[in-house]
Amino acid sequence: MDEFSLISELIAPTTGARTDVILGIGDDGALVRPPPGEALVLVLDTLVEAVHFPRGFPPEDIGFRTAASNLSDLAAMGATPLWATLGLTLPQADAAWVRAFMVGLHAALAPHQVQLIGGDTTRGPLCLSLQLTGSVPEAQALKRSGARPGDRLFVSGTLGDAAAGLTSLSTPEPAPPEVAYLRGRFARPTARVTLGQALRGTASSCIDISDGLLADLGHILERSGCGAELRVDHLPLSPALSRMTDPAQVLAYALAGGDDYELCFTLPAATSPLAVEALRRHCPVTEIGLITAQAGELALRDAAGPVSPPAARGYRHFP
Ligand code: ADP
Ligand code: MG
Repeated sequence: MDEFSLISELIAPTTGARTDVILGIGDDGALVRPPPGEALVLVLDTLVEAVHFPRGFPPEDIGFRTAASNLSDLAAMGATPLWATLGLTLPQADAAWVRAFMVGLHAALAPHQVQLIGGDTTRGPLCLSLQLTGSVPEAQALKRSGARPGDRLFVSGTLGDAAAGLTSLSTPEPAPPEVAYLRGRFARPTARVTLGQALRGTASSCIDISDGLLADLGHILERSGCGAELRVDHLPLSPALSRMTDPAQVLAYALAGGDDYELCFTLPAATSPLAVEALRRHCPVTEIGLITAQAGELALRDAAGPVSPPAARGYRHFP
């Protein structure tokens, strides 16, 4: 199968359809109509075999994860997802692999009515690059820079599952149900898109957790010129993670594991209980601490007092 039939037979027929797309796949570029009065938000994420997922990982899951990690960036900006372009680098034109990849990609994109409008297909080591465009009213875009001392600190969902799931890929089959759950959290993360939109005009800052809570919260603190006090005994943990390993390891996964794709955000102290409750219509949301005035200081504590951080501070490509 050559690259042209790959595109026309396997990719183009599965793109979805939006009325704001004037010209999709098939020309040198795509033509779109931006939503009037809104700012566009552009994000891109790349997944490389043996770096972001192990060799032989199921193509459907790779497709889903590629889309979910990008959707998560849009969620963290409070944006509505609109269009996608896809950079596909494949060792060979394996039709079954591409078909399965597209199924996973669309399983993640379709619920948000994202249309695939273009891309590029080349030969090389397996690498998937997705670029998403979304939109948001300019004044309501969520940024990392707006946290202020006294703001309350929150996360969505549960932390540490994906990192534990990834580690467990090397344990023998058959996997017990907890391990299967954790692997699912790695393979098919849930981007918190509707929560991100609900945080418009409410949150003072927001980031998605891709490298681990400590690392990503650190970015909010740096950009906002603040510190934080984090209650490690309030971190939301799944029953599966708590059952699978000892408390110290659980804490390390939750604080520094990465791949969670949950949102970490701050709300001004004056936010009404009703507004916090409204966020819970989208997904679980847990209060985990407080923003402080000590710039750059991230203090961990539990009910008994200070807790020392785990040795690893989150994933870095160039340590
Ligand atoms: P060009 O040579 O002008 O770059 P291509 O032959 O690479 O054009 O692509 C033809 C059409 O197919 C373009 O509209 C391009 O956006 C689309 N396309 C190519 N690869 C992909 C892909 N992996 N996903 C989605 N669209 C693609
Ligand atoms: Mg061209």
